[in-house]
This record gives sequence, C-alpha cells and structure tokens, in this order.
Amino acid sequence: MTPGPTLVIRCPLCSQLGKYRTVASGNTFGAVYYTDGKRVAPMLPDTPSVVRCAACRGVFWCAAAAEVGEFYGHRKDTAAVDADWRKAGKLHEPDEGEYLAALDRLIASSPGEERGIRLFAWWRGNDHHRGSSPAPAPDNPKVVSLRHANMHQLIALLDTAEPSDQLMRAEALRQLGEFEQAVAILSKPFPPDYGTAISRLLGLCAMRDTVLQKL
Ligand SMILES: [Zn+2]
Repeated sequence: MTPGPTLVIRCPLCSQLGKYRTVASGNTFGAVYYTDGKRVAPMLPDTPSVVRCAACRGVFWCAAAAEVGEFYGHRKDTAAVDADWRKAGKLHEPDEGEYLAALDRLIASSPGEERGIRLFAWWRGNDHHRGSSPAPAPDNPKVVSLRHANMHQLIALLDTAEPSDQLMRAEALRQLGEFEQAVAILSKPFPPDYGTAISRLLGLCAMRDTVLQKL
C-alpha cells in the first residue's frame, strides 16, 4: 500500500481545520467481502466520504468542505508544512449513531448523495459484525428505530433493474427480518456470477438469520 497525501479541509460547521490520510494505491489481497456488499481490503483501506469534526463533533460530507491544502506526513521535510495543518484535528468516519442523528441534515445539504449517505450509515451499523471479534449491534431503541427507517429508505432508493442493487435490497430485507420479500427478490433471474451470493443469502433466509455475514 502506498500512502497518499494527508488532506487538510475546513469544517463547514465550525470552520476549524481537520485532516485525514489518503491512500495513493494498494491492492485487494486478503480482502473480505460481506453480505451487505461492503469490501474490507487491508491493503486498500477506504477513505471516508463522511467524517466527524474533532473540534465541534459535527458530521459532514467531505466533498462539502473547502480544501485547504495537503502534505505528506511520512516525509522528512516536515518543516515546510504549515503548523496549523499539522495541528488540525484528525477526521474519522462517524459511528452509526452519529451518522443516523445527522442523516436528515447530510441529505438536505447534498440531496444528490442520498443513496450513498444512507448506504454508508447502514454499512457503519453493520461494522459491529465485521472483523475478528464481532460484537452485538447496540440495541438503543432510538438507534434501532433510526437504523430501520434508514434501511427502508435505502431499499426504496436502490435500482430494481440493477443486479447488485437487487442483491443489496434482498440483504437489507433479510436483516430487517422480511425473509419472504428477500427470497422473492433472490428468486428472480440474476447473472450467473451472482450464484454464490444468491445461494448464501437464500441459506441465511432459510435459517431466519438477520445478522451480517461474510460472503
Ligand atoms: Zn467542526
């Protein structure tokens, strides 16, 4: 994996600087694929599109923030880097609860990105079940209610004519416990290379399993 520059942007909510690392190149060796369509590649980590400001804790879409500059943090010539850029707070992807609480505002500010924002929030909630020691998802009733509302809205936004979207619709319905609807989608014609994923999801539906799994 080759690191890219560290980007410095200005939080659109409080105007403080924030920074995040990028990746110039990598590969998908050792990547793990999950039933919700997310790929986790250790040698090609995702750069988050939505981040939480370290100063005001506000959540914002990176593309909506003004870019201030970039620098290479791993190089020796650090004296030339603006001290304010170095001091800028690190920007991280919000957790599920933060995503869901900010969802309406994020979508209102970037309506064209609604599908992506809802997808990222869903994936973030599923992150509890990824990795070597999966943990149960938080059962805070407010978070659960917002999570389910987001999944229903996402299902409505996915393209019924697109096989990969249909697979994600079936998976979201499975996670919601709507097994009959999921099976109805999975029983439609799909291109041959979807066979493994379809079998996996049908098997999980038959077991009445609602938890994210590896594909
Ligand atoms: Zn801020």
